[in-house]
Formats: sequence, C-alpha cells, structure tokens
Amino acid sequence: MLTISNLTAHYGAAQALFGIDMAVAAGQTVALVGANGAGKSTLLKCIMGLLKPSGGEILLDGKPVTGATPARMVRLGLAMSPEGREVFADLPVLENLQLGAIPLNLPKAEEKRRMDEVFARFPKLGQRRTQPAGTLSGGEQQMLAMGRALMARPRLLLLDEPSLGLAPIITDEIFAIIHQLARAGTTILVVEQNAARALSASDTAYLLAGGRIVEQGKSRDLLLDPALRAAFLGAASHDNPSASRLGAAGLTNIRLEKQPMQTDFMPAFASAEDLQAHQLKGLKWTVRHAYEGSPAYRAKLEAAGVTPDSIQSLDDLRRLPFTTTEDLRDGYPFPLKSVPFEQLVRVHASSGTTGKRKVLCYTQKDLDDWISMFARCYQTAGITPLDRVQIAVGYGVWTAGMGFQLGCERVGALAVPVGPGNIDMQIQFLLDFQSTVFCSTASMALLMAEEIHKRGIADRIAVKKIIYGSERSSRSMRKKISELFGGAELFDITGLTELYGPGAGIECPDHDCIHYWSDYYLLEILDPETLKPLPDGEWGEMVVTTLCKEGAPLIRYRTRDITRIIPGPCTCGSVMPRHSRIKGRSDDTIKFRGVNIYPSSIDTILSAVPGLGSEYQIHLTRGEGGRDNLRLVVERAEGVGASRAPEMAHEAVHQIKRQLMVSVDLDIVDYGSLPRSERKSQRVFDSRIQDEIV
Ligand code: ZN
Repeated sequence: MLTISNLTAHYGAAQALFGIDMAVAAGQTVALVGANGAGKSTLLKCIMGLLKPSGGEILLDGKPVTGATPARMVRLGLAMSPEGREVFADLPVLENLQLGAIPLNLPKAEEKRRMDEVFARFPKLGQRRTQPAGTLSGGEQQMLAMGRALMARPRLLLLDEPSLGLAPIITDEIFAIIHQLARAGTTILVVEQNAARALSASDTAYLLAGGRIVEQGKSRDLLLDPALRAAFLGAASHDNPSASRLGAAGLTNIRLEKQPMQTDFMPAFASAEDLQAHQLKGLKWTVRHAYEGSPAYRAKLEAAGVTPDSIQSLDDLRRLPFTTTEDLRDGYPFPLKSVPFEQLVRVHASSGTTGKRKVLCYTQKDLDDWISMFARCYQTAGITPLDRVQIAVGYGVWTAGMGFQLGCERVGALAVPVGPGNIDMQIQFLLDFQSTVFCSTASMALLMAEEIHKRGIADRIAVKKIIYGSERSSRSMRKKISELFGGAELFDITGLTELYGPGAGIECPDHDCIHYWSDYYLLEILDPETLKPLPDGEWGEMVVTTLCKEGAPLIRYRTRDITRIIPGPCTCGSVMPRHSRIKGRSDDTIKFRGVNIYPSSIDTILSAVPGLGSEYQIHLTRGEGGRDNLRLVVERAEGVGASRAPEMAHEAVHQIKRQLMVSVDLDIVDYGSLPRSERKSQRVFDSRIQDEIV
C-alpha cells in the first residue's frame, strides 16, 4: 500500500532522515520503534505531508505522493493521530471530532454517522461529547485524537506515540483498541518508544536510530532476538531492577518483568545421522530399561525371543513385540511401570468410558521431557511471552490441562486456566483479559465460535491463534471456527495420554502437516490388519516407541490413530519429520457393505459441497434381510435457505457414491439443530451391533 524509498529529510541544515526504505502492506500493522529523537515522528510527518522530504520518494498504491498536502493525503485515505494528541483544549469533544473530517467535506448526516461510530468504539468520549477537550484525562485525550483520525475512515492510520505519558492500564486499553482496528481491516503504522508494546501489537517492525533504519523484520522475531532484547530493549528483571525503575519513568523502551527465558526448544542435530544415532541409543536404553524394570515387558520380550542385546540397529525395532491398550488395562492400576515407586512423582489417567481407565505414571524427568515437547508445540505455533493463553481443556487427572499449562509457563506466556465448559466465563475472559490464544477441543472451539458470532463480539476479542486437539476436525469445521473467531489461525496438536499427553506434535504455520518430536519417540506406520510396515505416504496405524520415557515406556504401542508419513522437508523450514493430521482411529473405521470407510473421508466430501454446514451425524442401521443402511444427517450452513436442500443432498450423495463407492441416504436439517458438545461430539451412531447381539 505504502512504499518509501531512499527518503531523506532536513530541519534547516540538520539532516533528520537518511535514506529510509520501508513498505507497509495493506491489512498489516507495522511498528516504527526507536528512542526519542531517532526520527520516527519526522518520518510520519513526511508521509502525512506535514513535512516536505528533501529527497527520495513516497508511493501510495504505486502512485507518487511525495510532498502532497495533508488535506490531499486525508482524501487519499490517510489519517494521523499526532504525538501529544494536539486536541483543541477549549473546543468540546464533538467539535474536535468534526475537525478530522474537514478535508472530506462530508454531508451532515454522514458526519453524524461517523461520529456515532467513534462513540461506539470509545464510549467514554460519547459520555463527554459536550465537555471541552482540555478537561479530559490523558487517556481520553488520546482516544479523542484517535477518534478524530477515524472520522476520515482512513485506510492507513498513522499513530504517533499513542502510549506516551499514559498509565500502563490506559496503555492496555489504547492498544486493545488498536488491535480491534487492525482486525477490522485498517492498515496501521504505529510509532512507539515502548518497543515491547509496539512489537507485540504489530506484524512487522522497523527499528530506527539516528535517522536510519537499523533493523527490520517480523515483529515476533525481533522481540525474541536475544541480542536485541539486551541492547535495544534493556530487559528488566529481579536482578536488574534499575531497568524497571527507568521503565516506570518512561526513560527506557521496555519493561519485561519476566526473567530472560529460553526461546528455542528445538533439538540441535547436525545431520540425519546424528538424529539416528540418538534414536538408536534411546531404543537400546528403552528395551533394556523395560526388560530390567517391568516384569510384564520382560515376559513379552522373552516370548518374542528378544533380549536387550538383540537391539543393534534401528531396524531391530521390527523384532519387538507390540504393546496394546489391553496390556495397559491388564496391568491396572500401574501398567508398564518400569521404575520403583519412590521414583514416581505423578499419575495421569485417560477417560475410561469402557473398562478400566488407562493409568500412566511419570518420573520427574518424564514430566520435564513432556513440558519441553509442549514448549516446542507453542514455539511452532509462534506463541511468545507476550501471549495470553486461555486454556479451556480438562484439568485434573487428564493430561490435557496440565500439559497446556506447564508448556505455557515454560515459554513464558500468561496462562488463563479456565478448564472446559463455562461459556459465559470464557467469553468474559476473552473480552476482559484480551486472551490472544485459545486452547480447547475442536468441538469446544466450534461452540465458542458460534457464541462469539451470536453475541457479535468478534471484533472486540483478541484471539489470533487456536490450538486444539484430541479430536478429528473437518476442513469446513476449521474454516468456520477460524472465521467466527475473527480470522484466527488454527493449530491441530497431537498426543495421547500413553505418550506423555498432548504435545507429541503440532501443525506448523504452513498448515499442511503435523511435525512430531522424533528425538523423543519413534513413529511407524503399519497396516492395521497385517501389522506390516507401509511405505511413506500411505495411510495406516501409528505405532510409537518411546526413547527416554522412564515411568511407563512404550514399546511399539498401537495408538489406533490413522495417519501417514509425509516424506521430505517442510516448506516451513522445520527439520522435524512430519505426518498428516490424524484421519481417524483404526477402531472407528465404519465397515459398511464390505467397504471400510473412515469417518474423515465423509468429512472431506461434505466440506466440499457448498451450502452444507460443518455439523453432521452418521447413522448405521440394519434393515430387514440384514441389509445395512447408512444415513447421513447434515446441517445446512448458517443463512442457507431450505429450498437449496434437494440440490445439496443430490450433490453430496453423488460425490459419496463416486468417491467411496457406496450409496447412502442423506437428510438435510436446519442450521444449529444438531447437538453441540464441549467435549468430543459423537458423530457415528451404529445400531447394527445390537442387532447382531439379538
Ligand atoms: Zn512445517
């Protein structure tokens, strides 16, 4: 949208800007950070036409605007909230706002409409509309200056030092509004001395010193750059309280109250051979540890003719016997336990809907390893110490809440541990705490998304990322969650209680695969029927072997999860290997008239039919004469008329027939008529089994 090249500016003989190059893309928030006198305000003034540059060029939408008047710039869609607010103290709020639209010469009715918009965004200004601006507090004057700029409904909003001289709590409020404006689509260029603030609120940033750009890049990268943090941002800490005091006096750029912390949790293997050597060492250790520590494992290994010395290469993995859910249940209450009790520090359990629960025990090292894996997941999703992570998964004996919580603390983000359900409280915290990350099951995320939509608050919340797991989700469900959350980015996280808990891998920012932590466990993909290895790229059952798990190691544990290895490197640049998002479980494959169907293939087909919603159920029944019937009940998408149902049903049935080779019945029902759940939504209803018992 805005391109600046080789821009220079002078005040008299003194040069203030030296060959500035920068770009602001439409929809982005760009921060211009620097100390007092670095040239930030000068640059903004040049852009706005308040100061004539002495050289270089400014292009708006590709057209030169260098040296245009401020009034012309307003007509071209720019507006600026200046440093020090510059409100007219004797004029009332209303008249101050009118000034912002003067260059546009608006009809009265339009001016009134825009003023109402400003009051809706800044209710405090509405209450004080007839009060002279000079009687407002500093924060209110800042809101007035921003409101005045918004009267022009700018495409590009320039904000000069919006937090200058404001108390931290008012600064929070101002930045929340900046964030909302950005979400509503306004492109923003913000100048700030408070580097932490500006970097955490922007997509890209330029650091200015002495009239020159000294650093530029993604704000997140700049924020986490250790050299930059030390030199430019001057992090304060318990051991360095002076930085804190200076920060309070507004004299340094940042106050990071947290200790400098680890920001990279990825392993450093120089080559694939290095990793394999590590894996082989881990495999040998695991087999010996299980053999010596667990009578159950020793019996299984001996029955398979394997001793610890049998493991000489990674290929020897194939010689090891499988471990299954039944092994866990048989060993209740402490299955697979391979260390003495005094070394255990915690147990977790799975939700045992049938039979006994699966109980897993942990040593302190197991917990530390789990937390590191989870920190990697957060790192992959781009979570930083400035994020506020609202955790809406189960706490207690389940692994989920604990994993999300401890991983969050390890990366230094702020955890908001709400637990599942409690929709009203969730919404309140999203609004009041401005949580930037929401963690839940896919069903819960959908429930929240619909609630946010119903209450019309998408532009008042700050969620940028949703991390969800423990459940398959269709493409249309993901799309809907993202949209109703105001454009949040979704990350599917994997894991299972048996394998520490959630956090064993996560979808990367390229959203094409799950990266998994192959230095902690080996992953095989086997044919669930024959248990023979499948070539890379083919769908099969995920079987895992841990490499350093002490309390309850896993040897070729059959997860029942269906996925496939994706060979080759990822476009995201991560060196960690990857698999596809989990397609389903081998034990919830639907066997229908001799065909094996994964429920996810039905997801995929329904997601591709325009007008269908994300919610559906699969009903299997057995008719007279033993013939199986499969009936789908699918919701229409919100706002799609019932008259389109026959056409949509025809298309969906046709596609299922074409792609899965089966004939199904399909009913289309109203949007919102199928039940929503905070936990996993049940989608498959199979009444044939009972028929068989009868
Ligand atoms: Zn990737």
